[in-house]
Amino acid sequence: MMRLLFGLLMLFAGAAAAAEPPHYVMEARFDPQGNLRADVTVMLTEALSEKAFLLSKRFTLQPMQLPPGVTMTREDSEEPMEALNKFVFRFARPTVEPVKLSFRYSGPILTEHDSGNKPLRPEGYELFIDHMWFPVGADIQTRFTVDATIDGLAPDLVVVAQGDVTRTPTGVRIERDYVDIDLPMVAMRGLEKAGVPGVEFYARDLDTRLARFHVKHAEAAARYFQAWFGPLRQPVRMAMVWRERSMGYARTGYTVLSEGGRGAPDIAEAGPAGYVGHEVAHAWWMLASPLTEDFWLVESVAEYLSMRYVETALGIEAVEKELAEKREASADAGPVMGHGRPNRVQLYQKGPLLLIDLEKKIGRPAMDRLLREMAREPVHTTPVFMKHLSAIADADTAVAFEAALRS
Ligand SMILES: [Zn+2]
Repeated sequence: MMRLLFGLLMLFAGAAAAAEPPHYVMEARFDPQGNLRADVTVMLTEALSEKAFLLSKRFTLQPMQLPPGVTMTREDSEEPMEALNKFVFRFARPTVEPVKLSFRYSGPILTEHDSGNKPLRPEGYELFIDHMWFPVGADIQTRFTVDATIDGLAPDLVVVAQGDVTRTPTGVRIERDYVDIDLPMVAMRGLEKAGVPGVEFYARDLDTRLARFHVKHAEAAARYFQAWFGPLRQPVRMAMVWRERSMGYARTGYTVLSEGGRGAPDIAEAGPAGYVGHEVAHAWWMLASPLTEDFWLVESVAEYLSMRYVETALGIEAVEKELAEKREASADAGPVMGHGRPNRVQLYQKGPLLLIDLEKKIGRPAMDRLLREMAREPVHTTPVFMKHLSAIADADTAVAFEAALRS
């Protein structure tokens, strides 16, 4: 009997191990021209029959030593961007012990397919998933932990990345024990750091009007949202880079903003306040799949929260212009849900307006409670949101709100 019980316990321990997320170990080196040599081991413990990874075609992959029972085929892929190799691994039997896939590859970090964000610029590197410079799960939503050692970084490059970041004389060690879909890094000359509670902010000049607004509102937004959703799990690191494209992006505990298109000397405070408010909100709101119709739970909610923050910080007048623009832009936006991932207008313009309508209907205290409870959920889907809305308001309200998302 004891023996049987012990056996069962071992079985459960095995099942628990199987739930570990993929872990990446990267050893990489850049030469001064920006040529990358990388050795990336992906450890999989989930029982899978097949798993595919994407890597840019500009990299040459050395022949792989595959573990026993694993086969691999290569095909071209143009999704979600151009010029990718897709490596499809098939596993003879689903296994619970780690399977190690070792990718060794080399090639230039620069690419014409960079979504307008050059990975290497005179001031240094800005790397993120769009550059397809590490083996990315082909579903684009494979979350992993990572230990990365990246060498070949000149001593004057200031590195901003996720997790524990240790600068060495010639490189950096990044240890991230929480999962994310990306391995983002900024390594640039001339970045100064402002440390304020909850936030580390990096910019080349912290005294510009824009930088001062960003730092002030990043700190205040972090305080505002922590009072609402609970403590930050890690400080929010923000790097303000300089490039033409104004696009920014957020990962867990990490945000990149651009000076591009935002640096007018007389810029109004509401713009940068709303912008960092949106990005800080993602510390709690990025748990819905970016490939599905549930993505409104990432972007529409962050945008709604950004307006709530601006209202609190600068007054209701400060959001009225934003609201008017959203109403105009979303007049014929089409449904947010029901056709896969919503488009930009549906996510950033229409979705937040529907949340404002919902707030008007159920009242601000109920809305605040709804979002607080939702923020605690480990995975964000529309049914989970509707479950909380039914409990806090009633089932009819949830049905009506879902209908609004679908019309
Ligand atoms: Zn966002």
